[in-house]
Amino acid sequence: MWSGTIGAHPDSAGYRRRADWVFTNRRGGVSQGEFESLNLAAHVGDDDSVVAENRQQLGEMLGSPPASLAFIDAEHGHNVYRITEHSLQPEGKCDGLVTKSADIALVALAADCTPIVLADTKNAVVGVVHCGWRGVVAGIVPATIEAMLDLGAECASMAAIIGPAICQDCYQVDSECADQLMAVVPDSAHRHSDGRWYADVSGAACGLLERAGIGVTRIEECTYTNPDLYSYRRDGRTGRQGAAIVLRSMSVAP
Ligand SMILES: [Zn+2]
Repeated sequence: MWSGTIGAHPDSAGYRRRADWVFTNRRGGVSQGEFESLNLAAHVGDDDSVVAENRQQLGEMLGSPPASLAFIDAEHGHNVYRITEHSLQPEGKCDGLVTKSADIALVALAADCTPIVLADTKNAVVGVVHCGWRGVVAGIVPATIEAMLDLGAECASMAAIIGPAICQDCYQVDSECADQLMAVVPDSAHRHSDGRWYADVSGAACGLLERAGIGVTRIEECTYTNPDLYSYRRDGRTGRQGAAIVLRSMSVAP
C-alpha cells in the first residue's frame, strides 16, 4: 500500500487540519481465491462478511479508523455527491465524492481504472475520484474539482494524488475510444507500431488536474503488470483495491 498526509494548516480556532490518504494493494485482508486478499468491493462475488472485515482494515490503514467510510458506487459518469454527517453514503451511483466533514473517509474502488484523491486542507475540503476512459470523456475530473470549489476549495491550495492504474503500454483500446479521449486531452492516446491504439487514462486525468492549476503527484504503478494489484483486464473475475482520503482536525498543543 501507499499512504501519506497532505497539509497541516492551522485555522483561527486553534485547530490544525490535515488529510490522511491511502492506496491499497492486494496485501492484507482475509479474502480467498481470486479475491485474495484485501478485496474491498462488495459487488464482485466475494463473501460480504469478508469484505466487511477488509473494509475495517482499510480504516486502520488510514492511521486511525475514521468514524465512517463512504464508498463510490461507480457508473463511469460525471455524478459527484457531497457526503456529510447527515448523509454518510452517496444517494446513488457516482464517480466522485467530496466532503468538508472531518473523520469521514471517502473511498474509490478500482481494478485498472484510475483512482484520485484530492485535498485542500487550507479550506477543509477533500475529494475522491474513480476515472476510466469513459469518466474522462464524461468529465468526472472537472466535475469533482467544481464540487470542491463549491465547498470553498481553491485550486491553488489543492493537491491531488493519482494512484495505481493500468498504464499506457498495457491498455489497448479501439480507435473510437482513442478519438474520444484525444478530444478531451490531445496527448492521451497513442498508436503503436503494431497499428493498435493505447490509452493513457492516468495521463489524461493528470493533464486535466494540471490544466486547473492543481499540483499532482503520481504513483506510477501498473495494475496490469503488478501481481500485487487487482486488474480486471488481466484477471476478469477479481477484487478491487481502494483509494481513500479522510480530513482530520486536531487541536494544536499549547
Ligand atoms: Zn502496464
